[in-house]
Amino acid sequence: MANDLTQRGLTAARVGETNQAHRLLSEAIQQHPDDIEAWLGLAGVVDDLKEKEWCFKEVLALVPDHQEAQAALSLVQEKLTHQQPKDGETLYCYRHPETETGLRCNRCNKSICAKCAKRTPVGFRCSECIREQEDKYYTGSNSDYLVAAVISFPLAFFGVALFTQLLSGFGFFGLLFAFFGTPVVTGFIAEAVRWGVSKRRSRYLGHVVAGCIMVAGLPFILIPLNFFAAIVPSIFVFVGATTVLARLR
Ligand SMILES: [Zn+2]
Ligand SMILES: [Zn+2]
Repeated sequence: MANDLTQRGLTAARVGETNQAHRLLSEAIQQHPDDIEAWLGLAGVVDDLKEKEWCFKEVLALVPDHQEAQAALSLVQEKLTHQQPKDGETLYCYRHPETETGLRCNRCNKSICAKCAKRTPVGFRCSECIREQEDKYYTGSNSDYLVAAVISFPLAFFGVALFTQLLSGFGFFGLLFAFFGTPVVTGFIAEAVRWGVSKRRSRYLGHVVAGCIMVAGLPFILIPLNFFAAIVPSIFVFVGATTVLARLR
């Protein structure tokens, strides 16, 4: 009963080593085809619904009143009937009812056309499911945007003022320094914001900070003291906005 291969397979499954778990549990079943734990473990690591169905059927063949397997089997079979379009039935995108499609979201199973389907590492998804998962990823609240603005605007204003003052007197060398110095300064601003919002993620955090950098730089661009004095803040705004957008995703 307490087969060593089974235990190792279940442990592998628990830590997400799916391939390893699949191999160990299949081996365990070859040695002991009546190992219920191994069958249940295998059902958990195979992707294909047909394979899952088969695993649960094997369990029920061994223990007909196994409740977990009964419940799981009916769930799998329900999914299978939804997955197979009935003969002659044409599927249409749920957002574009006139567009025929063979694609489905692999999370909610809705029909989606090629335009609506987004390719993810785990297969095609509809935009609603992607949005839902992003919402789990973004943990920030609206007040974080205010915090980001309050932190980044003065820093950006100070940074662009300093750059313009110090570097616009050095001609081409000054521009070069602005180009390479800006990512350092605005990277620091991004980190300050990240710290200020306790590392919470928000969809538009980078946009807010980039906006603050633009607004802070605008007066320096519009009222230049000389040619280089207009270029330096322009570099700061452009390179800085790009930097924080990349950093605060
Ligand atoms: Zn979906
Ligand atoms: Zn569509």
